[in-house]
Amino acid sequence: MNHVLIEPEQCKGCRLCVNYCPRQCIALGSSINKMGYQYAEFHSTACIACGICYYMCPEAGAITVFEEMAEKNG
Ligand code: SF4
Ligand code: SF4
Repeated sequence: MNHVLIEPEQCKGCRLCVNYCPRQCIALGSSINKMGYQYAEFHSTACIACGICYYMCPEAGAITVFEEMAEKNG
């Protein structure tokens, strides 16, 4: 399954990933990181691994997108 890893300590809670995800996979959680920001969390099975969240995020290393490899038959 496609999924996204968000590093809590790299996130500044800008919401760009939240706002631009076409599948509403990401939301700001209620927890606060060491810098005092409410950070984004990924909770979804609807991710299409489009990478928009990755490209929108201004923080290098905050978001990693994992795309499931398609299974081949025969
Ligand atoms: S890869 Fe695309 S669908 Fe998946 S969380 Fe990021 S923006 Fe949303
Ligand atoms: S775009 Fe990056 S910095 Fe902004 S809320 Fe999402 S993960 Fe955090």
